[in-house]
Amino acid sequence: MHDWHHLIREVADFPRPGIRFSDITPLLADARGLAAAIDAMAAPWRATRIDAVAGVESRGFIIGSALALSLGTGFVPIRKPGKLPARTLHEEYALEYGRDRLEIHADALSAGQRVLLVDDVLATGGTLVASVRLLRRLDVELVGVGVLVELDALHARTRWPHPDITLESALR
Ligand code: 5GP
Repeated sequence: MHDWHHLIREVADFPRPGIRFSDITPLLADARGLAAAIDAMAAPWRATRIDAVAGVESRGFIIGSALALSLGTGFVPIRKPGKLPARTLHEEYALEYGRDRLEIHADALSAGQRVLLVDDVLATGGTLVASVRLLRRLDVELVGVGVLVELDALHARTRWPHPDITLESALR
């Protein structure tokens, strides 16, 4: 398999001093690297029935739609406030300073559908925990959560509040 880990670049002091940002744009630009990374993300779910992939704005859209194609499903966006045109459900979550909100179309998924939730990076886990709350309100069966990169130093896995929802990362 093509080696893709080196295509994720660490950028110091972004978006604020003291933060090391994992920049996935070199990986996205590399045809073989991107294919290998999506393959690695898809691998844990290949033997499981997945009806839909849900991804979080905005890098979760890129990773999520590629993964949906790879797994043979459609894609459902979870978006920042005010972007989705039809009726939505929303969940708020805490940021380091203040709060943010995520939205999903109320009719995006049907009860009982088997859904895989994805994002590019798991940092503190706040984004994905709020996304899980949102999906649960649609009565879907959340099969698991997949991320490209898990930032181990932030210990989101040890604080992950859903022992019944498998968390898979392609790189940690
Ligand atoms: P969390 O809610 O887990 O603290 O942060 C995860 C969200 O912030 C994800 O949607 C992810 O895209 C973004 N994020 C946080 N840190 C990084 C990072 O170092 N690199 C990238 N690409 N995204 C990050």
